[in-house]
Amino acid sequence: MNSDIERQLQASYPALYSHLAPRWEGAPLFECEDGWRAIVEALSLRLMPYADLGLSVTTVKQKLGALRIGIELVPGDRRIEDWTRVDRWIHEATEQSRVTCERCGDVGCMRTEQGRRHPQVLCTQCAKARGCAAP
Ligand SMILES: [Zn+2]
Repeated sequence: MNSDIERQLQASYPALYSHLAPRWEGAPLFECEDGWRAIVEALSLRLMPYADLGLSVTTVKQKLGALRIGIELVPGDRRIEDWTRVDRWIHEATEQSRVTCERCGDVGCMRTEQGRRHPQVLCTQCAKARGCAAP
């Protein structure tokens, strides 16, 4: 995501993203495009209360076209009893990313750009702009 959005997310949910670090020099913190901002924002809001219990987000990235969120618990802290709920929210975010254009946030579907092997969720307009083949 662009660095302004990354800074804003970190500033809004500092405890949640305190362990999030770029995987290499110059890498983005949130390794996906801006269109998924609302999904990440909604999930952050849900996870925020758990940050005080030791939960933090360690990965936000696009993998095989969908949003992947990695979380961890601060070692020794096991007070979170409703893991099922946390798991479900993360799963829902991933499912939502599968139908949300990663570029602009509009309704999209999984497509593959010509000459590339990895799929990406794009709306019709963004797909046209990127020269993607139909799904
Ligand atoms: Zn789009």
